[in-house]
Amino acid sequence: MKGYSLRRGPRSPLRLPVVGLVCAVVVLVSLGWVSYRETVEQEVATALVEHTHVVIEELQKLPAGIAVAESGLRGYALKRDEGMLDELDPAMREVEEALRSLRDLVKDNPAQRRRHELLEPKVARRLQLLRERLEAVRSSGDGVIAPEARHLTLEIRAMSGEMVQEELRLLERRTTTREERIRRIRVISPLGIFASISLVAGAFLLVYGEVKNRRRAERATEKHGARLRELVRETALMLQMGELLSACRSVSEATEVVGRLAPQFFLDEAGAICILNESQNLLEAEVEWGKDAVLAGKTFAPDDCWALRRGKPHRSQQGDAGVRCGHAGDAQHAMLCLPLLAHGHVVGTLHVVEVGDAEPIQRRAMVVGEQVGMALSNLRLRETLRNQSIRDALTGLYNRRYTDETLEREMRRAERESSSIGVLVMDVDFFKKFNDSFGHQAGDHVLSSIGALLRKKTRGADVASRMGGEELALVMPASSLEAAATRAEEIRAAVAEMDVTHEGRNIGPVTLSIGVAAFPQHGATSDDVIRVADAALYRAKREGRNRVIVAD
Ligand code: GH3
Ligand code: MG
Ligand code: MG
Repeated sequence: MKGYSLRRGPRSPLRLPVVGLVCAVVVLVSLGWVSYRETVEQEVATALVEHTHVVIEELQKLPAGIAVAESGLRGYALKRDEGMLDELDPAMREVEEALRSLRDLVKDNPAQRRRHELLEPKVARRLQLLRERLEAVRSSGDGVIAPEARHLTLEIRAMSGEMVQEELRLLERRTTTREERIRRIRVISPLGIFASISLVAGAFLLVYGEVKNRRRAERATEKHGARLRELVRETALMLQMGELLSACRSVSEATEVVGRLAPQFFLDEAGAICILNESQNLLEAEVEWGKDAVLAGKTFAPDDCWALRRGKPHRSQQGDAGVRCGHAGDAQHAMLCLPLLAHGHVVGTLHVVEVGDAEPIQRRAMVVGEQVGMALSNLRLRETLRNQSIRDALTGLYNRRYTDETLEREMRRAERESSSIGVLVMDVDFFKKFNDSFGHQAGDHVLSSIGALLRKKTRGADVASRMGGEELALVMPASSLEAAATRAEEIRAAVAEMDVTHEGRNIGPVTLSIGVAAFPQHGATSDDVIRVADAALYRAKREGRNRVIVAD
């Protein structure tokens, strides 16, 4: 059974910082709470210690106050001096106040409260005995201390001493507790500070990390977007170039298209495209772009390029590193050379200076190279096939069919433009003689030599052709009869001066007889004009050959 897997969505980028923040808040609140509680407890412990001190102080007032009152009374009894009684009342009031305040102070401590309850009547009784004795001294002058009073004094001292002891025990315990709390606060405070700093640092690191991640993601997205835009642009250019190249009819048209579009593929990099010539011995720079000097000259031999030698892309490094092609210019960068291949044959080379990242440049160069190579190769093939169908193989001149077609076409144009066309019909004199004397191949050689000369002597629009056998023709658009006659004479003279040798043997002088006619003077159709030119040619033959006859 086919299983389905559910992919979990991408983790929320906010999850980690939120968890971190919650942890930070929990730890800080806990620390704050512990710190607050310890402080409160410490305050309570301090208050308790102070309370104990107050209790002890009040307890000590009881025997002390009684002793002061007793000694004042005793002095008065001996000296009868009223001044001795000054301390008596305040001392007794102090004792009473201490007793009252002690009642409040010990009410929360059951053991001390019980002791106080026992102590209270005894102190009250002792004070009463003091008052009774004062009355007795005043009235009778006799003031002996009753044994009960002495006994009570001792009891009060012992009981208050016992209470003091209890308070001292409490004081010791409370002091220890307070010190413990202080120690704990001392530990907790730096811990809190440390935890706060750690959390702030942690939060900062989290936020910083998050910001960094986000920036990285943004940069990656930007880069990706730029890369995507670049790819879209390249694809559009590629389609445009492919479409234009497929509409090209000749290699020269194609190089023009490549010349316009190739620089757009390499906006920052200089480059060049070179085409291998027909003889396959020279590469010529057809297209160059950019400000860096990519090539040292306009042409170079195939052997100067390592990419052609090795049959694969080659990088010429700047400086001493690696092998640098002989044709490389003085560009301050590495240069990529790519053979333009199609059907396994080299048609040219592509050169690009590598500025910056080499990978995209190489990728673009491969794509452009492949398309240009294929287009050029197809056009070359088409041109060859076309030439084969319109040209004569032996002389390299156009054939009769092409000449007839061209003449018809040029006549229509001449009619529109009211211009004339010169027509030369030529025949090799005594051609049979070359065949008979030196063989058929020698005759072929004579024909191909004349063909080469004619090709050299014709202008762009002129059509030189072999009409059949050793009969040749030259159609000269936009040319008058006189200009055609002059050209005929030039050709005749040039052929007569030709030095033709075959297999080491001099074949002897070759001459032409030429008949000249013109459109529209000598006819309205190509057949008519050629017939008139033919007639002039036969006249030239009749009149002794090696001459030019211009039709009347
Ligand atoms: P004329 O001066 O009267 O033109 O004399 P000619 O010998 O040139 O004339 P003719 O028409 O008698 O001979 C033409 C010869 O050319 C006949 C033919 O064998 C030869 N010929 C025609 N085509 C070729 C070719 O392609 N190669 C060679 N070698 N000979 C050819
Ligand atoms: Mg002839
Ligand atoms: Mg002939």
